[in-house]
Amino acid sequence: TNRVMTLEEGVNVNVILRCRPPNTQEVAERAPQVIACNDALREVTLYQSVGGKQMSRTFRYDKVFGPDSKQERVYKQAIVPIVQEVLDGFNCTIFAYGQTGTGKTYTMEGGPRNSVDGSNLSAEAGVIPRAIKQIFDAIECNEVTDSSVKVSFMELYNEELTDLLSPGDDKDKRLRLLEDRSGVVVQGLEEMVVKNAAEIYQVLDRGTSKRRTAETLLNKRSSRSHSVFTITIHMKETTPEGEDVIKIGKLNLVDLAGSENISRSGAKDNRAREAGNINQSLLTLGRVITALVEHCGHVPYRDSKLTRLLRDSLGGKTKTCIIATIGPSVQCVEETISTLDYAYRAK
Ligand code: ADP
Ligand code: MG
Repeated sequence: TNRVMTLEEGVNVNVILRCRPPNTQEVAERAPQVIACNDALREVTLYQSVGGKQMSRTFRYDKVFGPDSKQERVYKQAIVPIVQEVLDGFNCTIFAYGQTGTGKTYTMEGGPRNSVDGSNLSAEAGVIPRAIKQIFDAIECNEVTDSSVKVSFMELYNEELTDLLSPGDDKDKRLRLLEDRSGVVVQGLEEMVVKNAAEIYQVLDRGTSKRRTAETLLNKRSSRSHSVFTITIHMKETTPEGEDVIKIGKLNLVDLAGSENISRSGAKDNRAREAGNINQSLLTLGRVITALVEHCGHVPYRDSKLTRLLRDSLGGKTKTCIIATIGPSVQCVEETISTLDYAYRAK
């Protein structure tokens, strides 16, 4: 049997599915592949043997990127229009969602950063450096008379926010979320002004090294925490009539906790609290997106810190993109099914 599940044409929430290539271990073990991607038809087919019977299920998303897809193609086809919205003065959010080891960080930040200089991105560069480059290319054009690009980088772990760019090693400094009618403010958050695309790697390195230090202390912390990289652009443009127009756009790039954390339960003490909290942010995010997509009245932003933080960049006129990442092999098939379903429900 082969059921084809089809999505309504989405307006503001785009769901993209990306499957990474088999890793060296899977190749060495000749792990059977259970995923087939058809990028042109935007379909992913999952093959499974259930009770000795061969079954398959096919899902259709807004875009599908199979194991051969390169960073540049993913960016050009899926992300360029979103960054253009931000340059037009809107707030947008891009999420990477999936099991640990399926390519969330590879997609958002990129692979090894060998020999990158300002104007040339390495082939492995991910969404963040490519977005920064697109932004600087755009504001170098004539109409923009004045501009600034600021970035911030936070980690959300156990429903607590920390600043990955704060100077020194006060990595335990907690950030507070303040809300008023005009939006959300993160009190004490470090914002760095970026002058050109090349500088973004220093910022990323600073943030990820801070994250890594914490990881050795707290076992596998990065798979349980969310990271939020935010780019804010202020632009002043002068129209041909000589009028000044101010535009402010914001892009949030969110590398979510591993989706395997969503279903973990039954653990005791700290681990239970931790699992519970991660459930909270991932589950609430799913509910918020469902509420937005179905246009039902109440959107439960307040139920988790992640959704409170992103409130002004989710829903309304904003564009949201979910990049769901999966692996191709049989070992992770249960998590793969859960990611395919989660991403599917996000429509
Ligand atoms: P996650 O952040 O979801 O835990 P990573 O981004 O760290 O996963 O990816 C795990 C490993 O797989 C890394 O070594 C990464 O470079 C590699 N990888 C992930 N996706 C791809 C891809 N599409 N092409 C090539 N290598 C990939
Ligand atoms: Mg990661």
